[in-house]
Amino acid sequence: MKHKMIYADHAGTTAVTPKALEAMLPYFTQGYGNPSSLYAFGQQAKSDLEQARATVARCLNAQPEEIYFTSGGTEADNWALRGVAELMALKGKKTGHIITTAIEHHAILHTAQWMEKQGYEVSYLPVDGEGRVDPAAVEAAIRPDTILISIMAANNEIGTIEPIAEIGAIAKAHKVLFHTDAVQAVGHIPVDVQAWNVDLLSLSGHKFGGPKGVGALYMKKPLRLPALIQGGGQEKGRRSGTENVPGAVGLAAALQEAVDHLAEESARLAGLRDQLLEGLTKLPYASVTGSRSQRLPGTASFVFEGVEGEALLLHLDAKGICASSGSACSSASLDPSHVLLAIGLPHAIAHGSLRLSLGPDNTQEDVAYILKEVPAVVNYLREMSPVWDKDAQKPTWVL
Ligand code: PLP
Repeated sequence: MKHKMIYADHAGTTAVTPKALEAMLPYFTQGYGNPSSLYAFGQQAKSDLEQARATVARCLNAQPEEIYFTSGGTEADNWALRGVAELMALKGKKTGHIITTAIEHHAILHTAQWMEKQGYEVSYLPVDGEGRVDPAAVEAAIRPDTILISIMAANNEIGTIEPIAEIGAIAKAHKVLFHTDAVQAVGHIPVDVQAWNVDLLSLSGHKFGGPKGVGALYMKKPLRLPALIQGGGQEKGRRSGTENVPGAVGLAAALQEAVDHLAEESARLAGLRDQLLEGLTKLPYASVTGSRSQRLPGTASFVFEGVEGEALLLHLDAKGICASSGSACSSASLDPSHVLLAIGLPHAIAHGSLRLSLGPDNTQEDVAYILKEVPAVVNYLREMSPVWDKDAQKPTWVL
């Protein structure tokens, strides 16, 4: 009999929580008014949208007027980079320098590459073997023409948490705007825009039990980026388009719930995660990717030498386990993940990556099942692998 599905890809996306769903449902069929309409029915939707904004602000230690709803993390990331460039251009600085890292999500990396084509210079800072950015390297990279530092709060592939508060203090001291892509952090670790000294922060609903297609950009007052999306002037003229009221309400409900249970849930998840990290590295030629100490509570990531990540995922799928091998976008390509290369892994080893990301629905039984099935699949694939020496039981590149 096929085993029940074990969903271990919460860094990819999450189910909408029952509470968030319950909060959203009335806005589809009853409270469906347009927040821009002047009659009371529309104004009720407007007031509920503002409540959602206030909730998000409270969860981040921000002010409600600093929160702008977007279509998700990707839009918030695009807006942060392109918006700062446009703002500076309006002030007469038509080109400039941006500091980011080699391990950002493609929403940042591809936007940065696009900006290079527009004449901006971008420094892609390296990371250490655990995926950590050195704050001193950030400081050293700042130039008189640096217009923005954009560094993720936590990495989506290896779960490493970056020293954002330290970098924020440096950015503040040098009066350079600082953006963090906190899509993997919000709802999973404590996030405080003031303690972190960030000017801009991106978040996404579907990573913490809210719906897909809704996110937010935090913009510290009095910073006001020009609009990325033009139109009817919603979101105080900065992000046009009829507001996704159910989405914003669902995002806010999920975030409040995540923040309310953060301490106990992150301790529970970290316990399960550590069992995976310990258990799966008992296999020979298996290692953890990312940081041991500065790691998202639910994310366990590995490389298994002599195994192809995609084959591993398909075999795990057949056993009912949903996992990932790096970022969803890069899994369609044959190149190994840019993140794993940036932490110094050779191509051959980076190909054997696995990310198991746990969430509220995962149990001790799930972990026991994963600890039984992953080694079985890895051993099976190694036996068939051209790069695994069956006699010596080691990868062919190990002498
Ligand atoms: N940034 C990071 C770090 C992510 O992990 C993701 C999603 O995987 C995004 C941005 C994009 O967010 P969204 O899916 O809401 O566009």
